[in-house]
Amino acid sequence: QRCLSLIKKTKFLNAYITVSEEVALKQAEEAEKRYKKGRSLGDLDGIPIAVKDNFSTSGIETTCASNMLKGYVPPYNATVVQKLLDQGALLMGKTNLDEFAMGSGSTDGIFGPVKNPWSYSKQYREKRKQNSHSENEDSNWLITGGSSGGSAAAVSAFTCFAALGSDTGGSTRNPAAHCGVVGLKPSYGLVSRHGLIPLVNSMDVPGILTRCVDDAATVLGILAGHDPKDSTTIQDPVKPFTLPSLTDVSKLCIGIPKEYLTPELSSEVHSLWSKAANLFESEGAKVIEVSLPHTSYSIVCYHVLCTSEVASNMARFDGLEYGHRCDSSVSTEAMYAATRREGFNDVVRGRILSGNFFLLKENYENYFVKAQKVRRLIANDFVNVFNSGVDVLLTPTTLSEAVPYTEFIKEDNRTRSAQDDIFTQAVNMAGLPAVSVPMALSTQGLPIGLQFIGRAFCDQQLLTVAKWFE
Ligand code: GLN
Repeated sequence: QRCLSLIKKTKFLNAYITVSEEVALKQAEEAEKRYKKGRSLGDLDGIPIAVKDNFSTSGIETTCASNMLKGYVPPYNATVVQKLLDQGALLMGKTNLDEFAMGSGSTDGIFGPVKNPWSYSKQYREKRKQNSHSENEDSNWLITGGSSGGSAAAVSAFTCFAALGSDTGGSTRNPAAHCGVVGLKPSYGLVSRHGLIPLVNSMDVPGILTRCVDDAATVLGILAGHDPKDSTTIQDPVKPFTLPSLTDVSKLCIGIPKEYLTPELSSEVHSLWSKAANLFESEGAKVIEVSLPHTSYSIVCYHVLCTSEVASNMARFDGLEYGHRCDSSVSTEAMYAATRREGFNDVVRGRILSGNFFLLKENYENYFVKAQKVRRLIANDFVNVFNSGVDVLLTPTTLSEAVPYTEFIKEDNRTRSAQDDIFTQAVNMAGLPAVSVPMALSTQGLPIGLQFIGRAFCDQQLLTVAKWFE
């Protein structure tokens, strides 16, 4: 009830696309009965959670914030959603995003942008006043980052305890950093993608947003493991993710990638990053500078691979099977074209176009195949660093704290998104686990997150270090 009333109170944040009030209340009633009988279903019994609107939810509309899927009610639950429900979690609703999770702002969906709850914090408001910015309540609100901005805002505004996001190039970690919550991207293959509407199949991972690292570990423990419906999930049995309290970090080796010190990095994020490194060092950890030499290729490489997979993935939206269909009865081709023109926004159509260009017979070798080779080099950079004895890498998550919406939309949004993902995308191309943890508040009073990157399938070790840091 408390969470539902907070959802109503914070409706102006636009964090939720659908609030499943009836479902949640019914689930809560059942959880309460179980509780009274002492028959809890598991760690999440009776715990309110939210789910990004690109995961299929049985009987609940799933839109991907797109006209294409508006009104689409899936007949099944994504594996991760089912696993949460099997543990007794209460589904509060579906959260807002960039259309088909393409973006870094949560500004690009058909339901409008998500507002960052920190825009309304007393400290931020006062700082702005001191800096003599005009105090127009509704003109200088901040973006949440994205594309899982709805999920990050939902957790940050206390409307649920955990939320699912998705992470293809940073979409869980980026909004987590901007909204002051924990954002975990598990190792690729640890968590099932079945029922997550794909963006880039070879990089997509369900992400977890929570208020603390322990909660993220609990949710990961529930979600992780083989799924016969996703052939890319690991076959090995998964051990539970209970995090030991690390008291001694002196055996740890923390790597600081020198290429991540980019000119665009804000001085404040830079200084907090150094502070964090010093903290580890002063507690006895070995902190060393490392090199990931192919970092500068990661954004272009991601772009070629992402748009190529998008072109292929989006082909399923043809107006026939589900979702939007235009009225045209001229011909089948005309119907396809008009459906896609009406159903997708510019960002999605732009990516389909780029992807089809890269996949043209005459371009395929030069772009797609080459990008796959570069991807391997980027992944090998990480392998080399970890083979040299580094346990985890410590990096910024984003270039700066959250920016006001009016600033964010000034530049070409796509260029801006591309820059923002510099610290997160390579991780997806390498399939590694990474987590963004809130570090401190900026002088403006806004949260800044730092990222830890771990070895593939060493999610437990990664979270243990993150918990110590938290
Ligand atoms: N910003 C990146 C993109 O637009 C990543 C998105 C994501 O992780 N879903 O492709």
